[in-house]
Amino acid sequence: PFEKSKGQHILKNPMLVETIVQKSGIKPTDVVLEIGPGTGNLTKKLLEAAKSVVAVEIDPRMVLELQRRFQGTAHSTRLKVINGDVLRCDLPYFDICVANIPYQISSPLTFKLLSHRPAFRCAVIMFQREFAMRLVANPGDNLYCRLSVNTQLLARVHHLLKVGRNNFRPPPKVDSSVVRIEPRKPPPSVSFKEWDGLVRICFNRKNKTLGSLFRQKTIITHLEKNYKTFQALQASLKGSVDGNKESEDDISVLACATEDQGMELDGEKDDEDMDLEDGDAGGCCDGSSFKEKLLDVLQQGDFMDKRASKLTQVDFLYLLSLFHQAGIHFS
Ligand code: SAM
Repeated sequence: PFEKSKGQHILKNPMLVETIVQKSGIKPTDVVLEIGPGTGNLTKKLLEAAKSVVAVEIDPRMVLELQRRFQGTAHSTRLKVINGDVLRCDLPYFDICVANIPYQISSPLTFKLLSHRPAFRCAVIMFQREFAMRLVANPGDNLYCRLSVNTQLLARVHHLLKVGRNNFRPPPKVDSSVVRIEPRKPPPSVSFKEWDGLVRICFNRKNKTLGSLFRQKTIITHLEKNYKTFQALQASLKGSVDGNKESEDDISVLACATEDQGMELDGEKDDEDMDLEDGDAGGCCDGSSFKEKLLDVLQQGDFMDKRASKLTQVDFLYLLSLFHQAGIHFS
């Protein structure tokens, strides 16, 4: 019996398995990571194409079945099975990842893979259709969201294949898509925490203008706190290392370790819920309010009337650099 809670939907269409393996462009010298091999339908084809396969499977019954299926075959020495939760175990070296995963781990798995070093060549993964469309969405698309920009900052993402639910046993409730993810090399030089901090604010309400988002009291207070922490750290560093300038990223990591990270901006809210109070959020060093400082930055890059739903990677990177120039940090 297949376990629903573990997302066990077995690929039953051999043509589809073949197509997935072909599209992943495996070389005979590649080490392939498979996540959730299940009964091994995909594993078998991967073993035929790759140098070796490391498969991580959470269900011990599946691990046994897999070992039984390949023991005594020519492939058995090139297959290593790890019994464990892929989100909790250390991943081994791999060139390519190919996987038909349980959909409930889509987001954490994607970011776990993208933070793995050394970076792999590509990952070809089956996702729930809507998740896949979010991954590949462009500015202006309906599904363009924080997931799209965060993933596309770290990787190039392509939609490869639509897969109907009847290709699985038992069929899931949703359709699927296969996506190719290729990590950008070298990785972007921006601090991901800073990037994500900015993007979270902008996509909290992706159709609101940045001008109105950055007028919210909670956001002004949060950023002003960061700003002061950052200034204080810079001052103390100047004192202690005699003007030796630390890199921005080092400092921002310190800054985020010293303050409460409790502000959660996820989820869709109604307009009425938003704290759009225009009140003065306190004085800033040069006498003008911190709110004015924020709005000046937006004005400087002509972002006041822009909305996250239409902004590109380049726009967000530019906006982040303007904030950093003004000493404003997001993590
Ligand atoms: N690859 C097989 C196929 O295509 O026929 C099975 C795919 S099935 C959608 C997902 C598999 O991932 C199941 O075998 C399930 O037990 C396993 N799994 C679920 N959660 C997991 C986790 N956190 N870590 C590793 N494997 C997991």
